[in-house]
Amino acid sequence: MGDRNFRSILTGSFSTPCADNPTVAMVEAAYRHAGLDARYINCDVKAEHLAQAVAGAVAMEWVGFNCSLPHKVAVIEYLDEVADSARIIGAVNCVSIRDGRLVGDNTDGKGFLASLKGVTDPSGRKVVVLGAGGAARAIAVELGLAGAAHLTIVNRDVARAENVAALVRDNTPCAAEAMAWTGPVAVPEGADILINATSIGLGDGNALPPVNLDTLRSGLVVADVIPNPPMTHLLRTAKARGCTVLDGLGMLVNQGVIGVELWLGKKLDAGVMQRTLQEIFEVPA
Ligand code: NDP
Repeated sequence: MGDRNFRSILTGSFSTPCADNPTVAMVEAAYRHAGLDARYINCDVKAEHLAQAVAGAVAMEWVGFNCSLPHKVAVIEYLDEVADSARIIGAVNCVSIRDGRLVGDNTDGKGFLASLKGVTDPSGRKVVVLGAGGAARAIAVELGLAGAAHLTIVNRDVARAENVAALVRDNTPCAAEAMAWTGPVAVPEGADILINATSIGLGDGNALPPVNLDTLRSGLVVADVIPNPPMTHLLRTAKARGCTVLDGLGMLVNQGVIGVELWLGKKLDAGVMQRTLQEIFEVPA
């Protein structure tokens, strides 16, 4: 009886609404697979309760937590330290608690980059990013830090695109320009990678971002951030045209792997996480 331990390692997520966030199922499946007595608790935390939630996590000696909407910027004021890329992006979605000190990271772009590196090294590449929201911003900064040569940020609201391009130019060696999205975008001849970082396609397998599909050439890497359904219309079309494709499910899985590595120093099984999400999203095998 003496050496039994009934105390679990505590991790989790603060967001609102939170009921549709499947990260808890993904991470806990991987905890069980690794034989870890660790929990990931999906908490609905309203904006006005963020300070109490953070203090609660510290008080209960959680080892870390994710922050999703609407807390990714607001949480920064409660942190002791913010990692470089998260500081540049201006948003934190992963907090580690070490000896009572709170350290913020951003795993959105890092999760994407880990997927991308599975098919190509972004160093020296020319990339077209569709969208200029939170996901696009995180991806653009990580690509710049990873040595991408040139980014074109395409967005309806061109001021938002310019904002992301300026962030990349000012904080990384990468060249970056903004482009207004006024009609189907032609992917330039010299581009190596096209990324849909808009919300077009979320929950709608037929939705297609306005792109000139004739410019999706064989050899181009086409990536989508949409996790569900993972095989978006854009990716299906790109694959049929001979492009290498990357889905948003892998980005989500890699975020889980990176987050737990920051909290526990252990690398969880990405395959277990991937299969768990595929079951939840009812992705055909
Ligand atoms: P934001 O709301 O911050 O940004 C949305 C972006 O999509 C903006 O650039 C917006 O353009 C653009 N957009 C939306 N609708 C249209 C449209 N009809 N035509 C053209 N552009 C459009 O969202 P996030 O950046 O936080 O998230 C974007 C997507 O990324 C979401 O679907 C989310 O699920 C996914 N995501 C996936 C992750 C993963 O791990 N797989 C992680 C994080 C996010 P405008 O500025 O002109 O309005």
